Amino acid sequence: MKAIEIEGLSFQYRNQEAGYALEDVSLNVEEGEFLGIVGETGAGKTTLLSAMSGVIPHHTNGEKEGVVHVKGKPVEEYASLYEMAVDVSLVLDSPENQLFNLHVFDEIIWGPENLGLDREEILDRGNRALELFGLEGFEDRITYNLSGGEKQKVAIASIYALNPDIVLLDEPTSQLDPIGTEMVFEAIDKLIEEGVTIVMVEHKIEEMAKYADRIAVLQDGSLRRVDETCSFFLEGDAHGIAPPQV
Ligand code: ATP
Repeated sequence: MKAIEIEGLSFQYRNQEAGYALEDVSLNVEEGEFLGIVGETGAGKTTLLSAMSGVIPHHTNGEKEGVVHVKGKPVEEYASLYEMAVDVSLVLDSPENQLFNLHVFDEIIWGPENLGLDREEILDRGNRALELFGLEGFEDRITYNLSGGEKQKVAIASIYALNPDIVLLDEPTSQLDPIGTEMVFEAIDKLIEEGVTIVMVEHKIEEMAKYADRIAVLQDGSLRRVDETCSFFLEGDAHGIAPPQV
């Protein structure tokens, strides 16, 4: 079974002035793979992640055509975004939009607590996430006081604690300096080790290409190409060919 299957997806926001945010996009994400998505501003990257995470259609109105299946199930068949988050969870570009300024440990177990798991399982998931992302010693820090990279690491740990099969990341390094960016890619590397399926929108293409299995290029809402090796995007490996304009 594919992690995500998209067939003929078009989407126009209800209040969108002209054209489509996505036009006839067909794309599969294999279980356990890391698919990168790149493209210019307005190319439709966030809209595509919204369709994969269920934000479209559950929270955003517009004209949709085509189908999106997550783990073999049409996204419309999920009762809510909350129910979907157990299968597919989204990390936002800004950790401030995702975190509640709680203590780090409370931040991480907020999701499992709201899933109604028993206390032992909640603490177990929290401790596993702390350990996996090297956050031991941070438990009692308030997230507000952490660096940008540390905050994003906590945001990723809090998503991991939901135990989703698929994690979507929408430009998680966009507000970070090089050190913070490295922290985020290290955290993503941990997700890869855990066998999580990853779809990531990112402008720092060379960094992402070191980890991604494939990179999809969106342009004006359409899928232009999918690079199977990522070599095209890796520094020094383009054999003098300019990378596609993204
Ligand atoms: P960026 O790199 O700037 O985040 P993007 O590739 O993620 O861009 P989207 O945010 O998916 O692009 O936007 C695709 C198109 O849909 C753009 O033309 C945008 O103006 C439009 N759009 C996005 N969100 C909405 C909305 N809520 N209402 C109306 N139009 C929207």
